[in-house]
Amino acid sequence: MTTQPTRLLVCGGAGYIGSHMCKLLSEHGYHVAVVDNLSTGHKEAVRWGQLYEGDIGDSAFLSRVFADVQPEGVLHFAAKSIVSESVSHPALYYQNNVSASLNLFEQVRRIPGCPLIFSSTAAIFGVPRSERINEAHPKDPINAYGRSKLAVEQALQDYWAAYGMPSMAFRYFNAAGADPSAVIGEAHEPETHLIPKVFQSILGDPVPLKIFGDDYETPDGTCVRDYVHVNDLCMAHLLGLRFLRLHRGAHAFNLGNGAGFSVREVLKTAERITGTAVRHELTDRRPGDPSHLVADSSAARETLGWEPQHIGLEDIMRTAWTWHRNRSPVKHDGA
Ligand code: UDP
Repeated sequence: MTTQPTRLLVCGGAGYIGSHMCKLLSEHGYHVAVVDNLSTGHKEAVRWGQLYEGDIGDSAFLSRVFADVQPEGVLHFAAKSIVSESVSHPALYYQNNVSASLNLFEQVRRIPGCPLIFSSTAAIFGVPRSERINEAHPKDPINAYGRSKLAVEQALQDYWAAYGMPSMAFRYFNAAGADPSAVIGEAHEPETHLIPKVFQSILGDPVPLKIFGDDYETPDGTCVRDYVHVNDLCMAHLLGLRFLRLHRGAHAFNLGNGAGFSVREVLKTAERITGTAVRHELTDRRPGDPSHLVADSSAARETLGWEPQHIGLEDIMRTAWTWHRNRSPVKHDGA
C-alpha cells in the first residue's frame, strides 16, 4: 500500500503560483522544500519551507538537493511564462522550460514511483477550435511558450511508459488573484500580465495601460481569457497528488472556470472595484495571442473532485486588488 507523500519539493516555489502552493501544502501538513533560482521569484515569498537557491538546469546542484530533501513528490512550477518573450527569444524557453525540466526529471525518475506535478498551460492548444477547450482539443501551439510546455507534456507520457514515472500536467488558463492573507501575490518584474498591470495603472503607473488589439473576433474585439484563482489552481494540485497515489499514469487536466472575460471587461471590473478610471490606449495586437481561451474543466471536476471556490471575475480581482494595494507605497482610498 502506498503512503501519502509528506516530503515535497516545490521547484519554482518562490514564484507566484509556487508560493501559494507552498502555503497550501504546509496548511495540509506536508513538509515543503523549495528550489528556485530567484530569476523571477522572490526570497520573501518563501515562507513555508527551506529555500535551496539554484537552477534546475544544474545537475550537481539538483543532486545535492535531492540527497538532502529525499522528496516523496515533486511539484514543478519553475519556468518562463511570457508569450511575447517566447516569440522574441525562444532559446530562453527551450532552455529553461524543456532542457532544464528534463534535467529535473533525471532526478525524479531515479526515485521509484515518485509523482511529478507539472505546470502546463492553455497555450499548448493554439487557436481554439471550440468555444471551450477540453483535454481532447487538438494541441497545436502558436508560440514557443506553448510548444515548450507541450514538449514536456509529451516527455511525461514517454517517461511514464518507459520508466513508470507517474505525473500529472495541469494546463492553467489565466492564473489570477492572491491569497486572502495578502502576504503573497503576483509580483513580476517587469510585469506583463493584464490584471496586475491594470491595478498598477490605478495605483499611479504613469504609463497608460495598453490594450493589445480590438479587432479580434470576440464580442467587443478584445481578447477573451478564463481567469482562475491561484488558490483554486493550487487546490487542484493537492487533489492531483492524492489521485496519483491510487491512479498511477501520466495524466493531464485543463484548469479554468469556464467563463471568458475580455480585456475591456477586466478594465471595467477594476474600475468598479476601485472607483478609479484606468488610463489606457489602444495599440496593435501582441504577437502570439489567441483571440480567446476558455477552459472546459469538467474532467478535473469529475475525476479529481475539483471545485473552484472563486468563480466570479470580480471576486478574483478583489483578492488581487487587496494584494496590490497593500504593497503599493501609494495610498489609495478605493474600496
Ligand atoms: N493584455 C493587454 N494589455 C496588457 C497585458 C495584457 O491588452 O498590458 C491582454 C493580452 O493581449 C491578452 C490578455 O490581456 O489578450 C491577457 O494577457 P496576459 O499577459 O495577462 O496573459 P496571457 O493570456 O498572455 O497568458
